[in-house]
Amino acid sequence: MLRYKVVEKFISINGEGRLAGELAVFIRFQGCNLACSYCDTTWANQEEAPYELMTAEELYSYIKETKVCNITLTGGEPLLNPKMDVLLRLLGEDQSLNIEIETNGSVDLAPFAKLERPPVFTMDYKLPSSLMEADMMISNFDVLGTKDTVKFVVGDFRDLERAREIIRGHQLISKCQVYLSTVFGKISLDEVVTYMKTHKMNGVRLQLQMHKVIWDPNLRGV
Ligand code: SF4
Repeated sequence: MLRYKVVEKFISINGEGRLAGELAVFIRFQGCNLACSYCDTTWANQEEAPYELMTAEELYSYIKETKVCNITLTGGEPLLNPKMDVLLRLLGEDQSLNIEIETNGSVDLAPFAKLERPPVFTMDYKLPSSLMEADMMISNFDVLGTKDTVKFVVGDFRDLERAREIIRGHQLISKCQVYLSTVFGKISLDEVVTYMKTHKMNGVRLQLQMHKVIWDPNLRGV
């Protein structure tokens, strides 16, 4: 039977993308193919991380029981699961659900964008300080639409420069939503806003890591 490795499922505030600030059900899947320098969910990426095996139908039932209509599939890297399309198809049949998937930028999004009702993608572009930029799949920029988001997590000024270069070079503002977020404790929000002002970064939004403002930054399941 087809089952998914779920390390966490909970209701919280959506911190990212166009539905930021609204309630969402989070489903966190085990495993990631990257090892970002600032990862705050490394525990979920380990083979030995405790997980619950759930079928697509069980996940759908859980989601419906919560009575929350925004769903965020996250990880780790949720699209590593070879059968994620099965779950996305099932959830996509329910028109009352808004399905969003957080993905790390290294997995080809084209097959998922071709689904009858594709999810909304919130895709990271990993910048130099993550040490994972070489794994980014640039062709994904051609798949994204106006509902989708590219998020740049910035740890220093070199990252800001690279983000600006990518945003301009791929004309991301005209394709999708573009957010800058910060690595907690590495660069201040003030510094990022100053950079945005200096370089007139119209159309780019600063994103606060809401759960780290509301709760203890190290708390899980929020
Ligand atoms: S892609 Fe996300 S989950 Fe994977 S190592 Fe990087 S920050 Fe962690």
